Amino acid sequence: LGSSLQDALKKLVNSGRIDEKSVNDVVKDIQRALLQADVNVQLVMNMSKQIKERALKEEVPSGMNPREHVIRIVYQELINIIGEGTEINLEPQTIMMIGLQGSGKTTTTSKLARYFQKKGLKPAVICADTFRPGAYHQLKSLCDKNSIPFYGEEGNEDSLGIVERGMDKLGKYDVLIIDTAGRHSLEQDLIEEMEQINSIAKPDKKLLVLDAAIGQQASEQARAFNESIGISGVVITKLDGTAKGGGALSAVSETNSSIAFIGVGETSGDLEKFEPDRFISRLLGMGDIRSLIEKAEESLSEEELDVESMMQGRFTLKDMYKQLEAVNKMGPLKQVMQMMPGGMGQNISEEQFQVTSEKLSRYRIIMDSMTVDEMDDPKLIGSSRIKRISRGSGSKPDDVRELLKYHKTMQNAMKNFRGAGKFNMKKMMKKFGMQ
Ligand code: GDP
Ligand code: MG
Repeated sequence: LGSSLQDALKKLVNSGRIDEKSVNDVVKDIQRALLQADVNVQLVMNMSKQIKERALKEEVPSGMNPREHVIRIVYQELINIIGEGTEINLEPQTIMMIGLQGSGKTTTTSKLARYFQKKGLKPAVICADTFRPGAYHQLKSLCDKNSIPFYGEEGNEDSLGIVERGMDKLGKYDVLIIDTAGRHSLEQDLIEEMEQINSIAKPDKKLLVLDAAIGQQASEQARAFNESIGISGVVITKLDGTAKGGGALSAVSETNSSIAFIGVGETSGDLEKFEPDRFISRLLGMGDIRSLIEKAEESLSEEELDVESMMQGRFTLKDMYKQLEAVNKMGPLKQVMQMMPGGMGQNISEEQFQVTSEKLSRYRIIMDSMTVDEMDDPKLIGSSRIKRISRGSGSKPDDVRELLKYHKTMQNAMKNFRGAGKFNMKKMMKKFGMQ
């Protein structure tokens, strides 16, 4: 659940004011999340220092609680590094793709062509990769799928000549995208080839393509390409996998550039414009941070969930009631869960959600018929009390038993939950009999 981070933030809001220890706790958790996401250690350290200083020094803006204050600073610092994103305008232009082998240049070339095509421009593609066997056919077949004009010369190793002739032949199209060769590792001959193509094609944009899993080599690559031909922006591919793309932060800070697009799959439609908010949420291992905070603010501030005591394994019916209330206030369950980290809600069908929220409201009605003592200590509830509660709430005794069972499972889960790190919402719901 990015759970330790959220717990730390929780503590911060409970403490009600900013003190050094609580800021340190939050920063420690943020460090952990960022390092796990492959962000460069030095970057993380510099940023942490900045966050601590600002969190303690800057006055908490009125109408904002300490937690919002810190999160806002974390956000701003990350945005500072990562930038708002590189805008690739919808206008006639030449774009050159660069990067190592396997980074996703060819795939991204075809995705970009498709992107412009869908926006009503006329793109065309040149294959200047004469290094990798099969490069010509790979790109040609990707282009053919979307009827995108393509120029290449199979078997010819003269990449500069190909670029020249390709630009000549395809000059009437709006957007020319040049796919180039890579190497397994950064090599001088690759840099030289890029310099030559750059001077012939004079591209308006040069996009460095990086695999999300690249990690710390990102900064070396970015620096080398930037020093030789200059980089206009970065594309991070394979963000549909487990890698979070933290290495790209080094690349953009190294080159003073920013991310233009992200690749989220292998087909031509799997390209998204870069959105810093989403990227940062992913880096921190939290869901849609902004809206999660906004929503949680509204609901949790009134009646705090006693997370601490829940974690200790003391989880009464009252706690459960409060929890259901909070979830209820936060909005439709589906929406809440979709805001959770890791897209927990995504694998759950509409129908399952329906059942779930129905069940929750039924439980709430039953609990409204319980006494305070019963809520505090459910063990008091024997069969005669079950009868009374079921009558009072207009439900069946079996429903009350089901609720008590649900509470028990939940109580146990809360015990296990402690220190469990990530938890799987779907599994948890199954355990609770909510599906
Ligand atoms: P190049 O050597 O830089 O041209 O890289 P390619 O475009 O040939 O891509 C290398 C591999 O990565 C291919 O198998 C692609 O299908 C795959 N690939 C590229 N981009 C993505 C992406 O965004 N997501 C996924 N899952 N795979 C990708
Ligand atoms: Mg390629």
